[in-house]
Amino acid sequence: MSETTWQDGIGDPDALERLWTPHRMAYIRGESKPDDDSEGECPFCRIPSLDDTTGLVVRRGERVFAVLNLYPYAPGHLMVCPYRHVADYTETTPEEAEEISVLTKQGVHALRQVSAVQGFNIGMNQGAVAGAGIAAHLHQHVVPRWLGDQNFMPVIGQTKTLPELLQDTRQLLAAAWQEAGA
Ligand SMILES: [Zn+2]
Repeated sequence: MSETTWQDGIGDPDALERLWTPHRMAYIRGESKPDDDSEGECPFCRIPSLDDTTGLVVRRGERVFAVLNLYPYAPGHLMVCPYRHVADYTETTPEEAEEISVLTKQGVHALRQVSAVQGFNIGMNQGAVAGAGIAAHLHQHVVPRWLGDQNFMPVIGQTKTLPELLQDTRQLLAAAWQEAGA
């Protein structure tokens, strides 16, 4: 570590490099995390009222929309959500369940269009105990995977959460989705 980058309070220098990711504090502090389970506190209820760029909305369907995760596990991490504030998969109407399925498939196609994705994790974490960050509003994760991504994702993943890069990803995906005629 050079003299110029030395700061008090960061401990004694050692062999480890530090990658500072202060933007992660927004997630750690729980900013934009709802205070309760009501619709008024729910980011997935608020997002559709924002414009696509601000809300990171990739696709708007009739009953369901697709949005980029603000805190992605991987670049291109999408979430497919009903507009309706429902917590449980069994509460979806047949039409909503169908459209979740349709937009999930379209999202996979769009991600493959813009990147050499090698695999996907697709699924729902239902309930906080199962790992849902916003348990009150159902959302299906579509997470693109690359061979060996977990080796560097804990580091690189954090650098990918910068808003500018997310906006770029959103634009790419939205364009690919349109081109596919979806
Ligand atoms: Zn909601």
